[in-house]
Amino acid sequence: MSDVLPTIPPDTSDSLAVLEKSRSTAETFGIPLAVLLEITHRCPLQCPYCSNPVELDRSGKELTTDEWKKVLSELAEIGVLQVHFSGGEPTARKDLVDLVKHASDVGLYTNLITSAVLLTREKLSELADAGLCHVQISFQGIEEGLADRVAGYKGGHRKKLEVAKWTRELDLPLTVNAVMHRQNLHQLPDIIQMSVDLDADRLEVANVQYYGWALKNRAALMPTVAQLDECTAIVEAARERLKGRLTIDYVVPDYYALRPKKCMGGWGRQFFNISPAGKVLPCHAAESITGLDFLSVRSNHSIAWIWQNSEAFNRYRGTGWMKEPCKSCEFREIDFGGCRCQAFALTGDAANTDPACALSPLHETIFKQAEAEAEGETSRFLYRNFAGGTLESENGT
Ligand code: SF4
Ligand code: SF4
Repeated sequence: MSDVLPTIPPDTSDSLAVLEKSRSTAETFGIPLAVLLEITHRCPLQCPYCSNPVELDRSGKELTTDEWKKVLSELAEIGVLQVHFSGGEPTARKDLVDLVKHASDVGLYTNLITSAVLLTREKLSELADAGLCHVQISFQGIEEGLADRVAGYKGGHRKKLEVAKWTRELDLPLTVNAVMHRQNLHQLPDIIQMSVDLDADRLEVANVQYYGWALKNRAALMPTVAQLDECTAIVEAARERLKGRLTIDYVVPDYYALRPKKCMGGWGRQFFNISPAGKVLPCHAAESITGLDFLSVRSNHSIAWIWQNSEAFNRYRGTGWMKEPCKSCEFREIDFGGCRCQAFALTGDAANTDPACALSPLHETIFKQAEAEAEGETSRFLYRNFAGGTLESENGT
């Protein structure tokens, strides 16, 4: 919004010049080494916890091939080393091979974050030839019935297994991403074994984080405290057992935590992503916070300038914006007050303490609500789609 726009300096078109001019800022908030590119919000799946915003960008707003190429060149020029092609489903874009080739030509390490259901062996092979370095495939469960129901896509699980095998046959490193919640946590031991059988290097056991679509589906997804304790024990045992064979990353849901996670390493400190329409964002959920004006790569500012000088990035950087109890808390430079999007979603003010923190006046209420939802009867999903969501039918179809 125009009333929150910063004063715009006259000459900001040269990214490297911006970095050199604002040396002190660059030292504190240096350009991240890895950037997430959400090249489309289109996706054939309908996961009820999708991290995309509830207001999805339609295809007509997406950056063109040439615009994405320009972004990739600019990222390489300012010192970014890795890009993650994500979405939506990145393979829904017909120019993906071209984009991967360009990224590779300008020296970027490339990772494909995919649901895999649109890939053929031929397409994967073309991507490998274009320089793709790594593949991450999301799984919704271990058996077809539940996995396809969660994804809202029949035949998806079987296809993912096939693509995972092709990935390794093409000698590409593989990460399995498993998003966990009340309805699939019982399958965790088998998901770990599946990752070993697929010869994955890494498994991400990512418990759902409750904003956007997941917040709408919280009552159907929230695990019980007992489930989480068991999940933690299973992960710890598997890490020990599979040391040197499978790396396991573990993300816990913060509703049951005492302190919040250092979300995105702190707002505007270590991470940014670019939305399908070209907005430069401090996290993929940031557009859910109303009243912030996120600048686009289509603006007349360089990406480096947007990262360092835009009002949206500077609004919640550091600790100066904090209210109590964060303002005088000894942990303020450790967790940076938790997640701004969650604070906004649950309290209506992104500058409030994230209610995941036990020191937030709202923590107890939210914890109790989560406990009650986890013990409740709700299991039907509101599926993610461009129509604003579709409620699963009573018989699960
Ligand atoms: S979380 Fe599911 S619906 Fe969302 S982009 Fe990924 S695969 Fe598609
Ligand atoms: S009060 Fe704020 S800074 Fe302190 S632990 Fe909670 S979220 Fe972190």
